[in-house]
Amino acid sequence: MRSTPQGQPWRSFLTNDDPVLSHAGQAGELVVARTRLVLSLALLVIPLSGAMVQPWGDKHMVGLGILACSAGIALAVLHLVRQGMLERWIAIGSTVLDVTLVTAALITFLAVGQPNAAVNSRLVFDCYFIAIAATCLRYDVRLCALAGVLAIVQYLGVAIYADINWDVYGAVYRPTEYGLFDWPGQLARLVLLGIASVLAATVVTRGKALRRLSSMDRMTGVYNRGYFDERLSAEMSRARRQSEPLALVMLDVDHFKRFNDNYGHAAGDAGLRALTNLIRHSLRRSDLVARYGGEEFVVVLPVTTAEQAIDKMEAIREAVAQLPIRLPKQQTTALLTMSAGVAVFPEDGVTADELLDCADDRLFQAKQAGRNRVVGPPSGRPEPAPRAEPTPRASQRPDLRARPPRDKEREGKSAV
Ligand code: GH3
Ligand code: MG
Ligand code: MG
Repeated sequence: MRSTPQGQPWRSFLTNDDPVLSHAGQAGELVVARTRLVLSLALLVIPLSGAMVQPWGDKHMVGLGILACSAGIALAVLHLVRQGMLERWIAIGSTVLDVTLVTAALITFLAVGQPNAAVNSRLVFDCYFIAIAATCLRYDVRLCALAGVLAIVQYLGVAIYADINWDVYGAVYRPTEYGLFDWPGQLARLVLLGIASVLAATVVTRGKALRRLSSMDRMTGVYNRGYFDERLSAEMSRARRQSEPLALVMLDVDHFKRFNDNYGHAAGDAGLRALTNLIRHSLRRSDLVARYGGEEFVVVLPVTTAEQAIDKMEAIREAVAQLPIRLPKQQTTALLTMSAGVAVFPEDGVTADELLDCADDRLFQAKQAGRNRVVGPPSGRPEPAPRAEPTPRASQRPDLRARPPRDKEREGKSAV
């Protein structure tokens, strides 16, 4: 989970640094592991029934071994992904495993002396396409390429080995249910694997673009509310599992309506962009900032205590108050301030709703106490002395303080 979703297009094509995509990839990995588990258990029926007819037959024992291994590995992957461990390596390992399991099944045919079944079988060979298609769920173009190259190299190895060690063109193997062996047919199979891999990469590239669009706020470039809701629950589960603290901050721009009224909406937009830019660059890669709605933002700080969160938000608040907002089509700049409420897991709440409510209440307290301040839990660092709100540098700015603050959202809510 990182606070900078954007990146250069070529870089995002080659890497999976974007947390939105790596989390989507992890969810996809779970789907693949579950499917692998179900398929392995279902396919176990084939060698098991064969073993009943011909106990200890080579073919059935190898089949049993491969499928049992596949089911075991699927269980291990499910466990590791749920624990949030080895994210990147699991995706690579699973991709290699999926393809290699298909090759292992083909090698089983070679091992039991049925080379034509190995090089001409339909059902088993088609499983390469399933393995390549599964990489789409991992949102990583490199894995699509890895699956395609691996399938081509491994299958080519099987075909060459069969050709060298058996008389696959000969009379013995000719009249089999698997048909004749010929190299043009084999090369056509390799080309199909390559095409499948390119198609999978194209689907991933499109999926990545859509996933990014659906999780970001286009105006400010931070995450949107939908993505925030998804990640907050996930981060809280992780914090609970690993017994780590987590801080949630809700922040709101002060008197933003007046800012809009005085300088126009375009200036307001520029202000929000400058503010989110500053916040994003002040946070760690593991933190998350999202637009909660309008001029309200939320920040998730994993592995952060109340004191650390308050210190961080105080530094951001001070930097925001000094940040000159360049006013569009004007030669002047203006200033903004923000207020923030900090809540920490597990002291202030153990569910996402409880934490959000608590942070919201503290944000309200910050507003009530005069704005331009951070309010955290009573045990946290003492609230800093109220500061005067910054005055605009634009000389023609009217006296804003003459107007009463309007807070429609909280109308009817009593002060805490
Ligand atoms: P407070 O200090 O109590 O938060 O006062 P406020 O004026 O900031 O709060 P209020 O809720 O009264 O007004 C919020 C304003 O934010 C109203 C709305 O027009 C403006 N706003 C919300 N989203 C955007 C946006 O994307 N761009 C611009 N320019 N303005 C926005
Ligand atoms: Mg506001
Ligand atoms: Mg507001």
